[in-house]
Amino acid sequence: MSAHSPATGCTDTPVLRERGQREVFCGLTGIIWLHRKMQDAFFLVVGSRTCAHLLQSAAGVMIFAEPRFGTAILEEKDLAGMADANAELDREVARLLDRRPDIRQLFLVGSCPSEVIKLDLSRAAERLSAAHGPKVRVLNFSGSGIETTFTEGEDACLASMVPALPTTEAKELLMVGALPDVVEDQALSLLGQIGVGPVRCLPAKRAAMDPAIGPNTRYALTQPFLGDTHSALQRRGAQHIDAPFPFGAEGTTLWLKAVAAEFGISPETVDQVVAAPRARAEKAIAAATETLRGKRVFFMPDSQLEIPLARFLTRECGMQAVEISTPYLHTTIHRAELALIAPGPTISEGQDVDLQLDRVRAARPDLTVCGLGLANPLEAEGLATKWAIELVFTPVHFYEQAGDLASLFARPLRRRALLAASHPNRMEAAE
Ligand code: SF4
Repeated sequence: MSAHSPATGCTDTPVLRERGQREVFCGLTGIIWLHRKMQDAFFLVVGSRTCAHLLQSAAGVMIFAEPRFGTAILEEKDLAGMADANAELDREVARLLDRRPDIRQLFLVGSCPSEVIKLDLSRAAERLSAAHGPKVRVLNFSGSGIETTFTEGEDACLASMVPALPTTEAKELLMVGALPDVVEDQALSLLGQIGVGPVRCLPAKRAAMDPAIGPNTRYALTQPFLGDTHSALQRRGAQHIDAPFPFGAEGTTLWLKAVAAEFGISPETVDQVVAAPRARAEKAIAAATETLRGKRVFFMPDSQLEIPLARFLTRECGMQAVEISTPYLHTTIHRAELALIAPGPTISEGQDVDLQLDRVRAARPDLTVCGLGLANPLEAEGLATKWAIELVFTPVHFYEQAGDLASLFARPLRRRALLAASHPNRMEAAE
């Protein structure tokens, strides 16, 4: 390698691929954050009482708000013989739209039961669009837990929207991924100050604000789990901006610089604009880094945020990654991230949960990032854990959230240190 070759980090690290039993939530989970984002959309889950319970318990805090999701329950007679599930669905949708004239986009969301009985929701969406359009656009996607992980719900939702978006020849930036409004506003403000524009968002807050797409659209992903949406945008001829994701001070700066370059704006201009928020982010990260530096982290595959977060923790917080495991390794989307991670950790895709737990036990990392179902048993074995799902529900993108992101990882370590100090004998017994 010549002295001037670009660093390749983990780009060429052989990937350990496992296909066994997995422990993850299903894609319906995405509705919890999508329904807050898309204010005139409604998510109608075509599923069972289990699906309804999952949504209600996961979104319990929204119970007093005007609901933007519901479940069309497939009864046992439907599951046995399909009965007239389509006619019943049409009646449910007509009743819903009659009651809720504010709805402009209706998503029929597939689930395990609707997939098992092979209910064709894409045909149902076409039929219902013809009946209720153009006022209401009816689309469909699957949130089924069969062979999927929970962040795929958002990906499937956004990918379902792309073919229906209008066409444009304008050169615009499309920021892709559902961000909390406050975070989206911060990003738009930074992009505006840098001189990037016009900027559109997918998903938009309202159907009337939906972006148009064309060959001059440049799109930057803000979430690393949008593989299908990325492919759908490519099919519309839009151009992907290859960049690390906007997590941490470094990730945010590199993301902004990659976007700025597409619009002919220099990295120096970006540096000038972001100097103050970047310094704030670095200071906030440094506070958490006192706890994180030198600690070993193991990522189990869950949220699909694992690769960018490992980059953030190793480069900005001084942690050492033992294994970075992701449900799916999207080489085109993750390339810029992998290039930044120093060689050393095992990179794995998919899961065989028992084999992976053996590796966790052998490595005894200081922190294991994993799903809820695995966290309690690992804690009982004396290992500190972080619930991956919290990383998706908490605002963690861009500069102002970088300190909170680092703190999310520091908190379980601090808690264990406190426990160890107050109950030294109990901690020894656990370990
Ligand atoms: S979609 Fe499947 S995994 Fe998800 S709640 Fe419904 S039945 Fe359970």
